[in-house]
Amino acid sequence: MEKAGADWLHVDIMDGNFVPNLSFGPSFVEMAKKNATIPLDVHLMLADPLTYGPIFAKAGADLVTIHVEATSHLHRALSSIREAGAKPGVVLNPATPISVLEYCLELVDLVLVMSVNPGFGGQPFIKTTFDKLKTLKELMASKGVDVPIEVDGGVNDSNAPRLAAAGASVLVSGSHLFNSADYSLAVSRLRQAALSGLQPGPVSDKF
Ligand code: ZN
Repeated sequence: MEKAGADWLHVDIMDGNFVPNLSFGPSFVEMAKKNATIPLDVHLMLADPLTYGPIFAKAGADLVTIHVEATSHLHRALSSIREAGAKPGVVLNPATPISVLEYCLELVDLVLVMSVNPGFGGQPFIKTTFDKLKTLKELMASKGVDVPIEVDGGVNDSNAPRLAAAGASVLVSGSHLFNSADYSLAVSRLRQAALSGLQPGPVSDKF
């Protein structure tokens, strides 16, 4: 994907517990770090981020994002990722309200909003994501926090303009890119679609 022009490499880590699927462990991140020249954005879909956040940070992740639903010790887990040398980010499932971020927003370098339920690729985009981005932007403004907002799940050329217009600056694309015959063209088209949402004028709500 980096040869195709992607800015970051998003790595989904699934533990068969927080989500049913299983994917990679820290050794994969170590290997990817040796071969990648773009930042590794490691999304931990696992049940124990307090233990595993620092482990993936030390394995070479540039960013480690953890789910608020996965831990009772979110504040400590985010701090431990930074202490281990990576940028901490927080992830919200589609049904999780923005208000959970009220007392930890200052600790994070990124907020990831899930636009599908985590665990499987190829799911359709959940449209309430747009309202959620608006609420998130309001909370960030009230706290004086300005960190990137990432959206993960069902992102494509059709919804990218409106996502960018709503404040998302990092778009994760899995199936949409991997189902394309030409990855470079697909990355370029997605980038252009997102940038078109930042132009003045109305943004289409068709997606
Ligand atoms: Zn992800």
